Amino acid sequence: MDWIDLRSDTVTRPSPAMREAMLHAEVGDDVYGEDPTVNALQQRLADDLGLEAGLFVPSGTQSNLLALMSHCQRGDEYIVGMDAHTYKYEGGGAAVLGSIQPQPLPQAADGTLPLDAVERAIKPDDPHYARTRLLCLENTWHGRALPQDYLAAARALCDRRGLALHLDGARLFNAAVAQGVPARTIAQHFDSVSVCLSKGLGAPVGSVLLGKRDLIDKARRLRKMAGGGMRQAGILAAAGSYALDHNVARLADDHARAARLAEGLRGLPGLEVVGQHTNMVFIEVPAPRLQALKAHMDAARVRLSIGYTPGIRMVLHLDIDDAGMQRTIETFRSFKT
Ligand SMILES: *Cc1c(COP(=O)(O)O)cnc(C)c1O
Repeated sequence: MDWIDLRSDTVTRPSPAMREAMLHAEVGDDVYGEDPTVNALQQRLADDLGLEAGLFVPSGTQSNLLALMSHCQRGDEYIVGMDAHTYKYEGGGAAVLGSIQPQPLPQAADGTLPLDAVERAIKPDDPHYARTRLLCLENTWHGRALPQDYLAAARALCDRRGLALHLDGARLFNAAVAQGVPARTIAQHFDSVSVCLSKGLGAPVGSVLLGKRDLIDKARRLRKMAGGGMRQAGILAAAGSYALDHNVARLADDHARAARLAEGLRGLPGLEVVGQHTNMVFIEVPAPRLQALKAHMDAARVRLSIGYTPGIRMVLHLDIDDAGMQRTIETFRSFKT
């Protein structure tokens, strides 16, 4: 029996058709800018999102790092959510490698950073302070799609106060599909956007950073410095293009399965469904039961991530079908302590 892996949507493996697209990719040396498949992916995503240019990079972490370092100089500051990926889960890279000071702020339950708090955190132009340059948002955040009017208000604040606005859009397409809008409707508010191809979209590797051409030119130089300049990367970009062609609209299936999983678990003794947003379901289980639950699920080949965040986050994706979702519910039902 195959494992049902609910830890993350990063675990998807390329399908036979995706591998076929990779096999036939036309390639060149991308450090020379000569890989036609990489160039096509970058331009296509830039056009889709209404931004000028794109840069294919090995990971979302590197994409965010290059964005932060392209927007900010040493001694600049960026405002970011306390639970945001760039601040919390990227090894402090912006501080380590970019000498960029984070100004973390508590996020509201819906993932927004309250704009009055953002405004209060902007430092005056005075040598005592770091120079506040950038606001960084994340969408989706823990599965939550940020409200459209919030994004417009954040843009207006940044314009008024002279900040740039970056989106960690690792799951931008989940947000767009959930809100029933084209991804560019979300992207239009931002100076730069980072998109992951290797999460729900199902590519094995890769993210793309998008923005104005001069920003992307800076990011390309930094990518080389960070060791992210890849050669015949078209093999990987072909998987990304395939994912954009075939795996965007179907994210709605993951969202529907997440909703049904949450429904199936509601009311079970010994656990509480505390949220379901796009492709994620969050449950809480009393701490003394956690290890027994994990052993029970492992025995049935259902893999959960325990201990990474409070409670348990389950993520639906391309490699979990209706039967897998159903088997997950049954396995929870058969857990007795
Ligand atoms: C996964 C993720 C990233 C990037 O992760 P990599 O593993 O480096 O590709 C960035 N931001 C968010 C919100 C993510 O979920």
